[in-house]
Amino acid sequence: MNPPESSAIRRIDEILPARETIEGAGVHLRRAFGNREVPRLDPFLLLDDFRSENPAEYLPGFPWHPHRGMETVTYMLDGLVEHEDSLGNRGVIGSGDVQWMTSGSGIIHQEMPRARENRMGGFQLWVNLPSSQKMMDPRYQEARVAKGVTAKVICGEVSGVRGPVRDIVVEPEYLDVQMAPHTVFEHGVRRGHTAFSYVLEGRARFDKESGEVVEEDNLVILRDGERVRIETASSPVRFLLVSGKPIREPVAWWGPIVMNTRRELEVAIEEFQTGTFIKQRT
Ligand code: FE
Repeated sequence: MNPPESSAIRRIDEILPARETIEGAGVHLRRAFGNREVPRLDPFLLLDDFRSENPAEYLPGFPWHPHRGMETVTYMLDGLVEHEDSLGNRGVIGSGDVQWMTSGSGIIHQEMPRARENRMGGFQLWVNLPSSQKMMDPRYQEARVAKGVTAKVICGEVSGVRGPVRDIVVEPEYLDVQMAPHTVFEHGVRRGHTAFSYVLEGRARFDKESGEVVEEDNLVILRDGERVRIETASSPVRFLLVSGKPIREPVAWWGPIVMNTRRELEVAIEEFQTGTFIKQRT
């Protein structure tokens, strides 16, 4: 039996290495989690790590494709991605920027990387929407994130600092944390919320009791509790820490469309093929 104080600190449930995957028009990336983990990380569906120093691996990009029933969150570290969509939005996101795209009833878009100093880097997280909001109007939030801080708040709140992306359905918190050697980071994560971390660089101990050290390109699935505690030894670490409220509904998933039932997927595919997919035009 664990004493009450230690059980409040979230322990490691499992550590999963990222898997090499090919997506879009031939983009090589590392998938921290996806289809296979559903519904374990509810409300999160997928996390892709597209850091690469080889333009042949990222330049093919993600040409025109539809999304329905979910949200995509793109967080850029390096390089540039040009996006364009069926609502007429067009823009470029670069280092430090975040784009939170709510597909709702439907968006058709493309996401095309551009080479800059032969490096591309970033992450795309997919967040599910509850049935009541799957067919909401699509929207975008874009944020320019401050540089040079230890914990960049992409969404949520840390020590009174509220992240630039707000009003997301599953109340997620999304942090990019950098820790120096021999430091401790303790942070509250609401009990009952799903939480995971993805290590970008370096190594750290995510579970004092097991003593396990987690290295880069590994996903850490955390058990329930009230807070996380991460400790570094002689190496620094940089990691994403993400949490959110589980939706607890059936997931019917086909490529970039995520609904509750197979029938809803069939309707979406039929609408895409017959040109009636887009419900809102601006
Ligand atoms: Fe997309």
